[in-house]
Amino acid sequence: MIRPTQVPMRERDPRARTNTFDEVPFGYTSDEAREEAARCLQCRDAPCMNGCPVNIHIPKFIREIREGDFEAAIATIKQTNNLPAVCGRVCPQEVQCQAPCTLGRRFEPVAIGRLERFAADWESQHGVRVPEVAPPTGFRIAVVGSGPAGLTCAADLQREGHAVTVFEALHEPGGVLMYGIPEFRLPKRIVQGEIANLRKMGVAIEVNAVIGRTFTVDDLFTEGYEAVFIGTGAGLPQFLGIPGENFVGIYSANEFLTRVNLMRAYLFPDYDTPVKVGTTVAVVGGGNVAMDAARTALRLGAKRVMILYRRTEAEMPARVEEVHHAKEEGVELHVLVNPVRFRGEGGRVVEVECLRMELGEPDGSGRRRPVPVPGSNFVLPVATVIVAIGNQPHPLVPRTTPGLRVAGGGTIWTDEEGATSREGVFAGGDIATGAATVISAMGAGKRSAAAIHRSLTRSRGRA
Ligand code: FAD
Ligand code: SF4
Repeated sequence: MIRPTQVPMRERDPRARTNTFDEVPFGYTSDEAREEAARCLQCRDAPCMNGCPVNIHIPKFIREIREGDFEAAIATIKQTNNLPAVCGRVCPQEVQCQAPCTLGRRFEPVAIGRLERFAADWESQHGVRVPEVAPPTGFRIAVVGSGPAGLTCAADLQREGHAVTVFEALHEPGGVLMYGIPEFRLPKRIVQGEIANLRKMGVAIEVNAVIGRTFTVDDLFTEGYEAVFIGTGAGLPQFLGIPGENFVGIYSANEFLTRVNLMRAYLFPDYDTPVKVGTTVAVVGGGNVAMDAARTALRLGAKRVMILYRRTEAEMPARVEEVHHAKEEGVELHVLVNPVRFRGEGGRVVEVECLRMELGEPDGSGRRRPVPVPGSNFVLPVATVIVAIGNQPHPLVPRTTPGLRVAGGGTIWTDEEGATSREGVFAGGDIATGAATVISAMGAGKRSAAAIHRSLTRSRGRA
């Protein structure tokens, strides 16, 4: 008899967890993981694998967990995924590998993400194996940006024996995994552990290196790098463009989360970068970034946190689990609401004026367009506002790299393998797709690494 529902994962109590930045879910025990793994039907065609952008052999690693061979399970995952502890925590499995799961036609799909997380955590408790690296090829490759796209590309190329240097603009590597996603969802020690592994493989990481300012892509070629991968992400925040947006107390989610995560504002006074959060906070937006900002504000002492979203909960782009956790913690969802102006006193924001919305015809994204209800204006008192309505690629690298074709929304144009319009330059992740997901950035990093490796070994063959 197959268990119809997923083995639940134990979590920190919602009342206790808003006082701490500690991780919310505890992960499976070995027994729980084996019980969940036993639900897998071991389908021959494995439709789950079609939903995985890095093509993990899912039935194989699940079978290995079921048999209690956890070492084999993590080895299977790591054949194609170098960040399993990250993916097991933040990937939207419900719309990727778990969506086509055969079991899901009758029951809840297999909890593939939780099993991936279990295998990765098991490895970190039992000694992480550093992947083998091929003998040096003599080729040098520069990777710009150390988010999941850059880290994955660097790992795959170093494994082939190339000498990879990662250039990162910030003072710590990891991209959004370090500065965006909060500790209570993705503990920083996990990302730091993955980066330490990369260093053990021989990857060099230069921080505080802003490509386009400190050096250009052209400088990197002059320095002797044979190929460049650009994985600079989409870190430029979008704003509402409404009156009063410059009042003190209004943050972009990027600035707010970076101050808290990267500058450790939540550890003030041990770290001297406090972030001021008032008692009433409005977060504008409905994605993962908005949920992260809202839950962070609660943990920094806000008494009332409201999400203001212009569509309904059904259209929210945030992961279902994130919305669920936010609601459990007391975050209020105010849907079909759109801010139109902020009012301030003494230069600080004190009110947000909103309009009620209704849903009209679908727009270009396929979601129903929010349409304002005339005369429905109302006012909410606020002390802090966090704007989380999306991010765009930063134009610095495209602007300073001659020959790079820029596509819609400021993204860098690439072909399917990540090659740009400039020879020897590849790009992938959010800089090429616009803001997307960790796993899609990793998939792009992998495809580019394979293409760079092919082109370098081909060029040696010709020489
Ligand atoms: P990034 O992670 O943005 O990394 C780019 C790196 O390049 C950064 O470190 C940046 O400092 C560096 N850089 C930029 N310009 C330069 C330059 N000129 N020179 C040198 N370095 C440079 N996705 C999920 O799948 N699940 C989630 O739960 C999820 N939650 C999210 C929560 C938040 C708050 C945010 C912001 C995003 C979230 N995402 C989530 C999206 C996901 O994190 C991104 O899609 C992913 O990180 C993109 O990876 P990347 O490598 O392309 O870029
Ligand atoms: Fe197992 Fe679901 Fe994949 Fe089938 S589709 S192999 S049941 S995880």
